[in-house]
Amino acid sequence: MSLAFKFPTINPNDVLQSIVETAIDGILLIDTSGNVLMVNSAVTTLFGYSPEELLGKNVTILMPSPHRQNHDGYIHNYLSTGIKKIIGIGREIEGLRKDGTLFPARLAVSEIIIGEEHYFTGIIQDLTEMKAVQQEIIKLNHELEEMVTERTIELQEAVNLLLETNQQLNQSIEKHKSYELALLATRDELHKSLEKEKELNLLKSRFVSMASHEFKTPLSSILSSAALISKYVTTEQVADRSRHVDRIKSSVNHLNNILMDFLSITRLEEGQFVPVISRFSLLSMLSELKAEAESLLKKDQQLICEHDFDDLEMKSDKNILRNILYNLVSNAVKYSEEGKKITCRITLDDEFFRIMISDQGMGIPLEDQKHIGSRFFRASNVVNVPGTGLGLNIVLSYLHTLKGTLSFESEPGKGTTFTITLPLSYEN
Ligand code: ADP
Repeated sequence: MSLAFKFPTINPNDVLQSIVETAIDGILLIDTSGNVLMVNSAVTTLFGYSPEELLGKNVTILMPSPHRQNHDGYIHNYLSTGIKKIIGIGREIEGLRKDGTLFPARLAVSEIIIGEEHYFTGIIQDLTEMKAVQQEIIKLNHELEEMVTERTIELQEAVNLLLETNQQLNQSIEKHKSYELALLATRDELHKSLEKEKELNLLKSRFVSMASHEFKTPLSSILSSAALISKYVTTEQVADRSRHVDRIKSSVNHLNNILMDFLSITRLEEGQFVPVISRFSLLSMLSELKAEAESLLKKDQQLICEHDFDDLEMKSDKNILRNILYNLVSNAVKYSEEGKKITCRITLDDEFFRIMISDQGMGIPLEDQKHIGSRFFRASNVVNVPGTGLGLNIVLSYLHTLKGTLSFESEPGKGTTFTITLPLSYEN
């Protein structure tokens, strides 16, 4: 490719000279021996030499060791081998100023062949400022890296501190939770013992009111009968005497029954009660019960037993089952008026049988129903009927032992039905 010009009035040589002369980069021309044949003013400015000091001198005065010693060899090698190491490529070098100082530069070398002669052009670009900027950038980078490292360490420390604080917080939350749980447990305990105390107080007051009724009547009856007996001294009064003896006997029996109930409760409570399991006929047990209960009936009361199956053998504690039923039937009798009917209905339900004892008596007030079965509890409508409030409590414990249940339905003024459910065969 050739140089193109279009300056009709100007001599191209003048143009070229001006370009070379005013170029910012240093431009110099050497021959194959390294002698400087041309320099532009940028070269003189860069290296601090006057043109005269450079022209005709070997270009090596502008370069430090080892290039200064090797430069002739470079040219010679190229001319003999043709292998280009710098020509047409360019590289970074160090320039040596007249005052002995060095400066970084970029050197681009090109070859000119005129006729038989080879010449080399060097274009030198001063990199001092660029290097300074580069150094500054490297320094800044370095500082930045240090700052980042420092900040990272600080951040890491802060994160560690946060983690530690978090852990401590979690620990104290856990601790608080366990305190809270302990507190709740203590509160529960307190609550329970308070409830227990309340229950005991309630039991105590129910017991006192029961005892004052149930002990006072038979005791005063014993007392008055005993006093009267001592007055009936004649033979004719033997009938009166024995009437009072019977009264005393029945009062003592009554007191004895109450004491037996107390004893049963204590035994049940202490877990001393062990059922005596045997096989027996359900219907014959019921007829025994009926016979026993007949004596309890008030005037014109009737006890009717109903069942829709033939007899069957069951396996349980016969005495206890009879006691349970006796208790329920005697309550039905006790809390019903004369002439009323009491029904005992038995049904079978797979492995279980159900006995319902219904009466047409006074019923249980709605507000009292939830307390029925609690020890010494007696409904508000039975104040004039003797009783201890222990029977159903014992029934419940017995049923629990025989793996049975008790429920009831009652309508005040109309009647009550107690239902027990028991397995036909008791299995321990
Ligand atoms: P007691 O009959 O000796 O008072 P129980 O424990 O047998 O004791 O009964 C507790 C309470 O349940 C009775 O006082 C009574 O208020 C109520 N009760 C039990 N059975 C009947 C019933 N068949 N009809 C009405 N009330 C009943």
